[in-house]
Amino acid sequence: MLLLKNGTFINWQTLEFRQCDILVDEGLNGKITFNPGREVSSKATTVDCTGQYITKSFACGHHHVYSALARGMGAPKKNPENFNEILQYIWWTLDKALDSETIYYSALVTAIACAKNGVTFVVDHHASPFAVEGSLGIIAKAFDEVGVGHLLCYEISDRDGKEIAMKGLEETAGYLSDHQGLVGLHASFTVEDETLRPAVQLARQTQSGLHVHVAEALSDQEQCIHTYGKRVIERFAEAGVLEFDKTILVHCLHLSESERQLIAGSPAWVVQNMESNLNNGVGFFNSTGLGNRILFGTDGMHSDMLQSAKSAFFAGHNFDNIDYPETYRRFRNVHNYLAENNFTGDVENNLVILDYNPPTPFNSSNFPGHFLFGIENRHVRHVISHGKMIVQDRVIQTVDEQRILEESRRQAARLWKKMRG
Ligand SMILES: [Zn+2]
Repeated sequence: MLLLKNGTFINWQTLEFRQCDILVDEGLNGKITFNPGREVSSKATTVDCTGQYITKSFACGHHHVYSALARGMGAPKKNPENFNEILQYIWWTLDKALDSETIYYSALVTAIACAKNGVTFVVDHHASPFAVEGSLGIIAKAFDEVGVGHLLCYEISDRDGKEIAMKGLEETAGYLSDHQGLVGLHASFTVEDETLRPAVQLARQTQSGLHVHVAEALSDQEQCIHTYGKRVIERFAEAGVLEFDKTILVHCLHLSESERQLIAGSPAWVVQNMESNLNNGVGFFNSTGLGNRILFGTDGMHSDMLQSAKSAFFAGHNFDNIDYPETYRRFRNVHNYLAENNFTGDVENNLVILDYNPPTPFNSSNFPGHFLFGIENRHVRHVISHGKMIVQDRVIQTVDEQRILEESRRQAARLWKKMRG
């Protein structure tokens, strides 16, 4: 048990500020108790939180472990001129070269980065076409070692042929038999009907949902209209993708009004990834007509959800209906997605302790202003996951970060060499 002494607790839902001591139980369903009695407190490890703010830790709605070792790699064989070439010459070249070791280190360094940014739960979308089998188990193991909760899927796709698409389905079925997770699909333009059908069927059988990129670039729509005579969301709705409360539709940039209505009328959730969209130059997210089930992801660019929220606001507020409170609502909506769908791991005893010493008054009524213009990842001092201190004084406690980073650099060099063929 941990006793967080003399901090200010910020209720993530009501934004109520409360000066108190907090007793944090360990475990998957551990509770937190405000101002506990002296007898229980004496058995706990005390953490002095004087002058610091304690609140629910953060979660990421869409991540890509597979991209972790891309940072700083050499230029692709051809300079990409559009989104499909970005996939072909960068990401699909990288993920084809992944093997079990590079997947493991990609997952470890991602989980460490998340933890140090106060992110204790990650929804990931993974691809490694030539190392499909067992890939989700490897990622789960790495996340468990660091102490970060997860909801994983394998992005099933026909882009490398039917055999690899079937391997994706098998990996998903195997993983879902003993883990919580989703049925991942890459995107409409790389998933044929013969693959889409069994994927939706698998989601029904496992009472799961789909996790898929939607209309990230205009080309996804153009291919769908050309091939199937309908738009992406029409195709997905007809196939059953939108029938699940657990379904995650990622990006949703190039949608017609009727597609927006289909999404708003379904139980599916939408993940916005502003920085990735800016980086790929594919367009801007607009929430008009999509309903309230919108959350934020990083799309593998980094693991800092505070930054994702800021970017969504700064890039979006001139045309999207996103103000300070709406930014915070989308930032926290991932907890509602996880709770409403009864996923485990995003619990009350996941906390972040912020060493935030603002130059202006800070309280319930002006919290969103501080959230957007003040609080950053550098203020994350301690992180508690399932009641266990996984980051203390900005140092990861569960694994040897230095050793992992050294090995990760070796693995990255090996991966880059493999990519050059
Ligand atoms: Zn993505």
